[in-house]
Amino acid sequence: MTNFICSTCGTQYGESESPPQRCPVCDDDRQWGGRGGQQWTTLGGSRESYHTVIKPVEPGLTGIGMHPDFAIGQRALLVQTPEGNVLWDCIALIDDPTVAAVRALGGISAIAISHPHYYATMVEWSHEFDAPIYLHAVERPWMMRPDPAVTFWEGETHSLPGGLTLIRCGGHFPGGQVLHWPDSVERRGALLTGDIIMPVSDRRYVSFMYSYPNLIPLSAAAVRRVVAAVEPYAYDRIYGAWWERGVPCDARHAVEASAQRYIAAIEGRHPDGYPER
Ligand SMILES: [Zn+2]
Ligand SMILES: [Zn+2]
Repeated sequence: MTNFICSTCGTQYGESESPPQRCPVCDDDRQWGGRGGQQWTTLGGSRESYHTVIKPVEPGLTGIGMHPDFAIGQRALLVQTPEGNVLWDCIALIDDPTVAAVRALGGISAIAISHPHYYATMVEWSHEFDAPIYLHAVERPWMMRPDPAVTFWEGETHSLPGGLTLIRCGGHFPGGQVLHWPDSVERRGALLTGDIIMPVSDRRYVSFMYSYPNLIPLSAAAVRRVVAAVEPYAYDRIYGAWWERGVPCDARHAVEASAQRYIAAIEGRHPDGYPER
């Protein structure tokens, strides 16, 4: 029996004799199917072809990515707090050097993941570090490898060790959550957002999409809901799901200005004017 991993999205599945027929994560509008058809790998297979890259990002924050890029290409973040470390988002590869490096940073007390695209091998990480996983309850149907280590929380916010808070924003996924880390940047605070709030090429702005690969926007109401969810929290910085994706400062303003710009655009009210139809 094997826990197969989808090569396109990196999701690990429950044990089976042969690879699943389909990957529902990739069949969804918010993902894509591999160009060569559905392909599968295993943790053993990925250990042969990939290694992890572990780099400090700021004091108390470490990035954990894969090299070469695998599947969606996100990197995880380890937030260190005096009450234990939280792994934010996840990658498909976990191997002995990675476990040793994470243990040297204090291990993992809890795992939280923004949305189903980054569930990856979260159950392997959870078992290795004996760390519970916190997901929003509405995403329960996307659990491709069910496990008792997962706590499905309900409501709008959920506290984690070290003063961290999970905030349900919705948007890209109805249970899309972001992590508020108050101690970032000399206590000015940061949001770790995956792609629930997506830092864009212009680092003064973010975006909010239903599907990033297929460029399907959200409604104005959904964008307003995301902004309202994070409004009560102090933050100056945003870390997205990739190494280079972030808003280094003034992130609160970036979220508000980006939402205004986005809603104006989808409602045809851009200040420079859109062609009338
Ligand atoms: Zn997939
Ligand atoms: Zn996504």
